[in-house]
Amino acid sequence: MLKLILIALSFLFGILSIRKLRKYDVHEAEPFWKMVAVTIWGGLVSIVISLFLYSVLSSQDVSIHDGAPFSYFFVGFIEELGKLAALFICWPIIRNEMDEPTDGPIYMACVALGFSLIENYFYAAATPMSSPLIAVRLIICTPMHIAFSMMMGLAFFWATKFKGGWGVLLGAYIVAGIYHALYDIFVSYWYLLPGLYLIIKGAYRWMHQLLGYTTAQSPFRTSLSDFVYSFQSPETEPGLECLDCGNPAPKPTYERGRIRIQKCEECGAFACTSKTLYQLVHHYGSIFGKLKKQAKPVSKLRKNLYVLIKGNKFDRRKKVACFDLSTFNDALEEMNRSVITRTEKKWWCVWKCTS
Ligand SMILES: [Zn+2]
Repeated sequence: MLKLILIALSFLFGILSIRKLRKYDVHEAEPFWKMVAVTIWGGLVSIVISLFLYSVLSSQDVSIHDGAPFSYFFVGFIEELGKLAALFICWPIIRNEMDEPTDGPIYMACVALGFSLIENYFYAAATPMSSPLIAVRLIICTPMHIAFSMMMGLAFFWATKFKGGWGVLLGAYIVAGIYHALYDIFVSYWYLLPGLYLIIKGAYRWMHQLLGYTTAQSPFRTSLSDFVYSFQSPETEPGLECLDCGNPAPKPTYERGRIRIQKCEECGAFACTSKTLYQLVHHYGSIFGKLKKQAKPVSKLRKNLYVLIKGNKFDRRKKVACFDLSTFNDALEEMNRSVITRTEKKWWCVWKCTS
């Protein structure tokens, strides 16, 4: 019974993961049904390829059971190869969608998600629920599968777009295989759990940096100012209170998708909810991951007032934010530039291969 619940949870988790992935794809969201198709088809194909490679290994008398020397590395490299090959096999489904760098990691993530869901299903069905490590595995292995493969997705995008950079793809595959193997080692033993925490944290940071980089590079990216000025006559709607001057009147409203901001006609500041402020930084600043820690109190006297980045402040209790458009916009554009330079400095070899 517990097993069934865990398996059902992992499928639910799969759907939620696709929705979550779409939130990273801010500038030109991929069609939901294509993401589902790649998750199912890519997942199946990657499992079949991996099983085939395992059977080749076992026909050569190579043992890959837990604890055998190098077994974790065989597993890591076989499964990552399965996922990468499946992404190539999904090419007919996704070829018309590959128009910004984020698309590579997004579809790779779908394959990885499908792979992980199917693997989880068989893993849960075949393993007695004796060890609590199994629950840990089922819960965290899906996001990890996604994180390992993402770089291959970006390299896949470059390789198919520019018909080159195959060396980068090979490099991304090797990194994915090693990372996967390390994860498998750390998740297999209780006493290695502190190390597992570091691996998971590292994988998330890596995934967010990569998605920030591809988002900043998107040809569809616009600035926050562009977004506001694209409205010729915004509608006036019931207003948020302006934090700057306290004006509660209805305000011209700029709305698209989850983003909704309003202009205070008294003082010229822009108002939004504090949640939207975070979304603006993700969307126009290409910064992913938790931003809460980056907020700094304005002064000791005004305990609820915080600043996220230049040009804005928000009130924690009222959950309202306000910003000066041009200062905030400049800060966001600077964030985009710094994401690109910081990442390329780290991946200088990648940069050399593709430029
Ligand atoms: Zn105002």
